[in-house]
Amino acid sequence: MLLLHDTDAPGAEAMVKRVLQRVCEPVVLGDLTLTITSSIGIAIYPLDGENRDELIKNADTAMYQAKERGRFNYQFYQRQMNIDSLSHIKLDSAMRAALAQGDFLLRYQPQIDLESGRIIGAEALLRWHSKELGDISPGQFIPVAEETGFIIALGQWVLTEAVAQAARWQAAGIGLVVAINVSALQFQSSSFIDSVAAALSQAGLEPCRLELELTESILIHDINETLARLQALAQLGISLSIDDFGTGYSSLTYLKRFPVQKLKIDRSFVNGLPDDESDLAIARAIIQLGLALRLRVIAEGVETERQKDCLQDLGCHEYQGYFFAAALDSQDLEAMLGEENQNPQSGPGKV
Ligand code: C2E
Ligand code: CA
Ligand code: CA
Repeated sequence: MLLLHDTDAPGAEAMVKRVLQRVCEPVVLGDLTLTITSSIGIAIYPLDGENRDELIKNADTAMYQAKERGRFNYQFYQRQMNIDSLSHIKLDSAMRAALAQGDFLLRYQPQIDLESGRIIGAEALLRWHSKELGDISPGQFIPVAEETGFIIALGQWVLTEAVAQAARWQAAGIGLVVAINVSALQFQSSSFIDSVAAALSQAGLEPCRLELELTESILIHDINETLARLQALAQLGISLSIDDFGTGYSSLTYLKRFPVQKLKIDRSFVNGLPDDESDLAIARAIIQLGLALRLRVIAEGVETERQKDCLQDLGCHEYQGYFFAAALDSQDLEAMLGEENQNPQSGPGKV
């Protein structure tokens, strides 16, 4: 361990480069020549820790990261690393504590009807603000929750929370459909359909105001079992959409057989619009498919006006994305709806 006084990041970097070089100089032992390589992690006071133990722990984390990046390397500590290096078990218990403490919350991303320009729905997106670990994106914790099974409890919380919000909007006369993301494990759990029905009836929400976003990977499992579940959900009167359409297994048979109402064009295809020819071809094909099968089509990840215009020209029904707004808290979304009512022809929001 090295403790460097009166230095800064470039100073520390220069020093560890020298150390790495010196340590790897060959050592001759009799007729053997040995080389040792090392990996170094750097933590800087007070940014990366205010006391000895924290600094050592974080330098250690950074060192493991350096090793992972191919050894004989150095690495500055980054806050984010904590999450990557935390074992899944620890992350799982942090998630359980977070759920109990109320550290999860939902944000709502507006979904806009391309014809009228009005907000007609909102996708509920999960957020985790952890006091210890900082903001952790769902891309990081959802896969772990899926792996450990915690997604069932977390998904149940999302369902209850989003349905309660949708019911508040319903009571306020705000006509929004709230869409929630459903994980495979959650969808397959035996109590899922009952819990959707219970959430609706407890909150007094009209079923048509709830939409479930299902990925293709959920749908390909056991076709008959899946079909039965989807039919039971459709019977409740809620709507179903296929998320990230085109990125999964895309078996087209299920479109014919399953009671889904909407296809969601994945943002990876929206990205290159309108210039990228393959993206354009794929977006056009999905929209045509949707139109032919009488499904609604929504595009996600729309970031520019050109993308929006292109989708509109292709006949897409709805979109969501940073061009209009990122995911908002419920009050900000309500404010946006209020503005929209005062000025129906207004353009995209400023968020
Ligand atoms: P997703 O279902 O594809 O959700 C859309 C993601 O794109 C969200 O990321 C959203 O914030 C982001 N996004 C929205 N507009 C734009 C844009 O214009 N450009 C770009 N580059 N990105 C945009 P987020 O919130 O980080 O969620 C990531 C994924 O985590 C979601 O992908 C979804 O699969 C999962 N997830 C989020 N919330 C939940 C949840 O409550 N339950 C489950 N099971 N999964 C969730
Ligand atoms: Ca989604
Ligand atoms: Ca997506």
